[in-house]
Amino acid sequence: MPERSESDSRKLLRRLRDVLGAQSKGQERLDRITHLIADSMQTEVCSIYLFRDPETLELCATEGLKPEAVHQTRMKLGEGLVGRVARTNTPVNTADAPGEKGFRYMPETGEELFSSFLGVPIQRVGEKLGVLVVQSKTARQYSDDEIYALEVVAMVLAEMTELGAFTSDEDGMRALHRQPVMFRGSTGQEGAAEGNVWLHEPRVVVTNPVADDPLTEIDRIREAVGKLRVSVDDLLSAASLDKEQKQVLEAYRMFANSRGWLRRMEEDIHSGLSAEAAVEKEQSAARARLEQVPDAYLRDRLHDLDDLSNRLLRILTGQGADTGAEMPENPVLVARNIGPAELLDYGRKLRGVVLEEGSVGSHAAIVARALAIPLVIHARKITTEALNGDHILVDGDQGIAHLRPEETVARAFRDKIAMQAEAQKRYASLRALPATTLCGTTVSLQMNAGLMADLPSLENSGADGVGLFRTELQFLVRNKMPQRAELAALYARVIDAARGRRVAFRTLDIGSDKVLPYMKPNDEPNPAMGWRAIRVGLDKPGVLRMQMQALIRASGERPLTVMFPFVSEFSEFQQARSHVLREMHRERLLGHPVPARLDIGAMLETPSLAYAPKAFFDLADFVSIGGNDLKQFFFAADRENERVRRRYDMLNLTFLDFLQGIIARCAASGTPLSFCGEDAGRPIEALALVALGLRSLSMRPASIGPVKALLRRVNIAQARAVIDDARRRGDESARPALMDWLATQGT
Ligand code: PEP
Ligand code: MG
Repeated sequence: MPERSESDSRKLLRRLRDVLGAQSKGQERLDRITHLIADSMQTEVCSIYLFRDPETLELCATEGLKPEAVHQTRMKLGEGLVGRVARTNTPVNTADAPGEKGFRYMPETGEELFSSFLGVPIQRVGEKLGVLVVQSKTARQYSDDEIYALEVVAMVLAEMTELGAFTSDEDGMRALHRQPVMFRGSTGQEGAAEGNVWLHEPRVVVTNPVADDPLTEIDRIREAVGKLRVSVDDLLSAASLDKEQKQVLEAYRMFANSRGWLRRMEEDIHSGLSAEAAVEKEQSAARARLEQVPDAYLRDRLHDLDDLSNRLLRILTGQGADTGAEMPENPVLVARNIGPAELLDYGRKLRGVVLEEGSVGSHAAIVARALAIPLVIHARKITTEALNGDHILVDGDQGIAHLRPEETVARAFRDKIAMQAEAQKRYASLRALPATTLCGTTVSLQMNAGLMADLPSLENSGADGVGLFRTELQFLVRNKMPQRAELAALYARVIDAARGRRVAFRTLDIGSDKVLPYMKPNDEPNPAMGWRAIRVGLDKPGVLRMQMQALIRASGERPLTVMFPFVSEFSEFQQARSHVLREMHRERLLGHPVPARLDIGAMLETPSLAYAPKAFFDLADFVSIGGNDLKQFFFAADRENERVRRRYDMLNLTFLDFLQGIIARCAASGTPLSFCGEDAGRPIEALALVALGLRSLSMRPASIGPVKALLRRVNIAQARAVIDDARRRGDESARPALMDWLATQGT
């Protein structure tokens, strides 16, 4: 570390604080600050550029450049040297600015007189706020000390910008966290909602970036780091950690104990920053690096450091999840990511959820679906922009969130919500009616479920039963393996709620993306095709058997339906079936009541099972097509991969032909067949499935209305003819032909 003139830096910060503390307008403050920095750094020019909007920087104050350029000179992000500093979030230091690549000549400023240039970003934990520049006539490189000093000043400016110290409503500058921002992410769960932001982890507000007494601040940071270390050690000693959690915590511990981290923060404090500002300065630097490292492992580690810095800030400021802030009305949860159990805790209070990360198949998405809460995922940087209480619109259909929307956008959005509510009313009026087509074919529409939160939908949606009960969700939302009695009680509640309607319980489908928090995860190169679902059940039958006992006990003498996920060959079905029969026998021997009727089926999720021997179709009491997995393996396109998951249409005629083959095989052996993938809930896809011959579809409860409404207004033979014509013509997908045909049908 180079020797630093600490007292100079501290002196400058103290003067800065006096300026900031004085009662004055934003512009006046900025002018005084540029004067002060130029004076104390002995350079001819000091300028502050702030973002006018997310893409445009504006010269907001200067000492040394022509005053008439203030609020006139603007540049795009990445344009000129100032734009480069902002884009890369790193300093630019050059003795010959005009000769530097990317230099942009701005005659109105008169800056051609100044040869040397040093610009540092004004940023706050990854949020770009502006650029601070010093320039001088003599050609020279600025020293490391000077760069550091300017960075420290920029840090204070960032905090004050964040607190709105430089903006007023008159100057048209971007007042932070007040402008409308749109986030384009992806759909996690459809639906539209309007509400107010509730941050899962609220931003820490630092109001005291400059400190007088470095020794007190050093004591504070040391004490806070000490507490942080203890808390990480406590977390690490918790019993039920999987390998990955342990790795993350080990990384936390490494950072928490890192001398370098603490030393850098102490240096920042010696330069005049408060303990909080020092944490943020290092956090900002880590974020800037984060954006630039291509290596995924390193990025994860920098993420860890980021998390750890947040924890440290909470310890220092006493701000945190338990800040005592009241949840606003109509809360919309905004978070980087969230676990399924935490989301369930919030429950139906939430109007919507917006995440920076997440994936369509993530457990949080599954829970959001069960709760029917619109969910937008991949909304990059929303946690940096949003503040608790901000007005927000969640468009789950488009995968968009509008933060602090303009009134016109909000109005249009409300129209959309009203239209959806209108449609819901129409669907509700169909609730008691059957899904019977114009030509008299009746289709059984059932619902997919998996959580207790789903149960009210059994009545509200008009479902004929539960075509798929995903039992793993009950395992996923806990932090320890549920007990048999607990499961039996839960399954009994599900069967009670179904009031005689059929519930198809799918045995545990874990592995792949569904990793139980309390089971040792396996490092598999390709988990979707790995040790999952029935493969785990057969290799380690203890859980399968326990689950069967719970199901039999929950049913008592009532009929019971079970199905096995991911069966790839006949023998797997035979083995799984014999486990069930053995448990039935055992329960009988124990004198327990057993179901009067037991249906044992298989999910057809791998192409191989479509070609299983006839004996399989004869033995299975029913088959349910798991279209999500079947499609991913048919097209070899990962259902979790945003890049490819929408690439292949379910209505692709090769896939429809394949389904046709399955329907024919089931028909030949009289095996009841249903379809329970997501596509069953999309009206046009559902229509195609019915046209091919399926008479039982299972879907999200919210899809039953739209699917029923469509089926009730079409003639199936005609839809079938449209598909056959498309095939004869050699169309790739039946979708265009079906859409054209539907447009000619009455509403
Ligand atoms: C499927 O694969 O279509 C299915 C219904 O199961 P899951 O989505 O739970 O894998
Ligand atoms: Mg599946």
